[in-house]
Amino acid sequence: MTIDQYPTWVEINLSAVESNVKRTIERAGVPLMAVVKDNAYGHGSVEVAKVAVAAGVTYLSVSRFSETRILRQAGIQVPILSLGMVTPAEVDEAIVSNVIVNLHSFEVAEMFAQRARAIGKPVTVHLKVDTGMGRLGVQVNEIVALARYALAQGNIQIDGMFSHFANADLVEDSLTPIQVIRFQQAVDALHEDGIYPRWLHLSNTAGTLVHPEARFTMTRAGSAVVGIWPFNYDLPYPEYLRPALTWKARLASCKILPAGWAIGYGQIYPLTQDELIGVIPVGYGDGFRRTAGNEVIIGGQKVPVRGRLCMDQTMIHLPKKYPFGEEVVLIGKQGDARIRLEDLALRYDTSQVDVSTGINIRVPRIYVRD
Ligand SMILES: *Cc1c(COP(=O)(O)O)cnc(C)c1O
Repeated sequence: MTIDQYPTWVEINLSAVESNVKRTIERAGVPLMAVVKDNAYGHGSVEVAKVAVAAGVTYLSVSRFSETRILRQAGIQVPILSLGMVTPAEVDEAIVSNVIVNLHSFEVAEMFAQRARAIGKPVTVHLKVDTGMGRLGVQVNEIVALARYALAQGNIQIDGMFSHFANADLVEDSLTPIQVIRFQQAVDALHEDGIYPRWLHLSNTAGTLVHPEARFTMTRAGSAVVGIWPFNYDLPYPEYLRPALTWKARLASCKILPAGWAIGYGQIYPLTQDELIGVIPVGYGDGFRRTAGNEVIIGGQKVPVRGRLCMDQTMIHLPKKYPFGEEVVLIGKQGDARIRLEDLALRYDTSQVDVSTGINIRVPRIYVRD
C-alpha cells in the first residue's frame, strides 16, 4: 500500500500518540482513560487505542456502543467505558462483552438490572454525576440515591463515578472550580454512605493537563492522546504534546488561466490577469470546508484557495509551475510552512476536534512512526 495510490490521505504519527500518552500520564500522576470515541477524533480508534494501551493506558472510552465492538474485534482487552447511550437492543451485548456502562439515570439502571437478571451476568457501571455540563448524569444531591438503587438490584457493580467539564478549555473560567467542588461533594456523599467507587474521574484533556486539583484517581483524555491542545491559541501549544495528524493531497492539474476567466461554481473569483491555477483532488466531501480563506501548502509555501471549493476538488493559486503529483499539505508542516488544526478551527469558527472528526472516512488514514 503506497501513498502514491491516493489522491488525498491523512498520515497519523503513532510515535506522537505514544509520546502524548506517556507524557500525559507522567504529568497527571494517575492512570489515564484514553477517549477514542468518534474513531479517535478521526485518527483511527483501533490503531490509536493499541498504541495508547502499549504506552500505559489502563482504560478506554468511546461514546457509541458500536465503537466498543470495533475495539474488541481488534483484540483490545482493556476495560472500555461506553460514555453515551446504549440502546435497549444493545444492552445484552454490552453486558455479555464486559463493556462498562455510563449509569446516568434510574431508568438506565432499571434497564440494565432487568437484562442482567435475565442473562444471569452482572453489569459494571461508572455512575455519572452532572456537575455543570448539563448533559448526562444525575444532580449531586441524587447521586447517593442512584448508587443505592443500583446496588439494591444485586447485579450492578459500581466501578467508578465520573463527571464532565464544560469550560475547562477556557482560560480563567469560573465554572471549572465549581465543578471540582461539586464533584468532591458527590465523592464525599458516597463515602459517607459507605460506597467507595474505585475510579473517580472528572478531567478531560484540559483538566488533566492544567487543573491538577481535578485529577482525582483517574483522568479521561482524548484530545491530548492525539496531540490536540484544547486551548487553541489562548495558551501556547505545550512542549510535551505532539500533533499526530497530517492531511495531504497530490496536485492533479497546473495550468495558466487567462485574464477574464473566472473560477469554479458561482464564478466568485474572476481573473484580472493571467494566473497559474492548480487543482487538488480534495473538497468538502472530504471534510475540507466551503469557507472563505482556505489555504494549503505546496513547495514549502502557503498558497490561497481560489474560488469556491467543490465536493471533490479545489482550485489553488500557484506561484510557479509544479508537476503532476506534487505533494500538497492541508494540515501539517511542509518545509518552513505549517497549517495547524487550530488554524482551520479558527477559520471555521469551531473546535479542532470538529475539524479532525470531520475529515471524511473516505480519506485513507496511513500510519507512520518517526
Ligand atoms: C469527549 C469526552 C472526553 C474527552 O475530552 P477531551 O477534551 O478531548 O480530552 C472526556 N469525557 C467525556 C464525557 C467526553 O464526552
